[in-house]
Amino acid sequence: MTKRVPISFEFFPPKTDIGAEKLITVHQDLQQLQPEFFSITYGAGGSTRERTLAAIKEFNGKGTPVAPHLSCIGDDKARIAELLDLYVAQGINKIVALRGDLPSGQVGLGELPYAQDLVRFIREHSGDHFHIEVAAYPEMHPQAETFDQDIQRFTEKVNAGANSAITQFFFNPDAYFYFLDRLQKQGITIPVAPGIMPITNASNLIRFADGTGAEIPRWIRKQLQAYGDDSRSIRAFGHEVILKLCERLIDGGAPSLHFYTMNTTEPTRQLVVDLGLN
Ligand code: FAD
Repeated sequence: MTKRVPISFEFFPPKTDIGAEKLITVHQDLQQLQPEFFSITYGAGGSTRERTLAAIKEFNGKGTPVAPHLSCIGDDKARIAELLDLYVAQGINKIVALRGDLPSGQVGLGELPYAQDLVRFIREHSGDHFHIEVAAYPEMHPQAETFDQDIQRFTEKVNAGANSAITQFFFNPDAYFYFLDRLQKQGITIPVAPGIMPITNASNLIRFADGTGAEIPRWIRKQLQAYGDDSRSIRAFGHEVILKLCERLIDGGAPSLHFYTMNTTEPTRQLVVDLGLN
């Protein structure tokens, strides 16, 4: 039987009133699974600032802690400090600190060019108030020149004050375990939660993977292609693949699982139930 580990869920801030209404129901559904926290993404350069704040306001204080994401690229220290103060005032004590990606064509890194600069700034500004999560890339960040360099940059982020990390999604558990081994050799032992992306739709998955540098193994890609428009088969196959991935991660010692819910209850709920983590 799979060991019981904590879970957390990620939302993005809805763009429409209908999306916001729907997310309230999704939040209620997923809250029943007793997650440790819900995290809410934040568009680079402050592009979703108001919508992220609205979602935080909606869900904060409703039983499960919320963790705002905060990205630094293209933003300035004064605006980030304002957000940090607001979150302290709202009783929020966990933040996911990221660099972010500016839309292509936009240049200018801003006052805090990398996530490690943001982590350092949060510590300078708010002391130890926040538990800081950072991003990790078992299959390398797409802009990193080498794997070794990426590990070194991750180590710097931790030394700047990060408490734990959440990974980009991946489908090869060996990449995650190798990444942890390499961190351990650097003396880095913070918890690193695998980020889990349920498979529901082939074209979306390929688009996300291409955008993030995550690798879709050939056998998964081929099987998804073979199903064509048969969404029922894609969902069944996706469920089986992700369930097995989660089992292997938990059996291998993953400290928790973080689900990219894409603002829907299913298939995340079914995965959590089938893993016995509810
Ligand atoms: P960093 O840790 O700064 O790394 C970025 C790149 O720069 C890496 O290649 C690293 O090796 C390199 N690097 C780091 N420091 C230095 C240095 N000093 N000198 C030279 N190179 C350096 N994006 C959003 O916009 N909003 C979100 O809410 C969001 N949520 C996310 C949640 C998770 C769990 C993950 C995994 C990603 C998320 N992202 C989000 C995407 C993320 O912002 C991008 O992947 C971005 O390209 C890198 O962010 P980072 O925090 O990992 O950056």
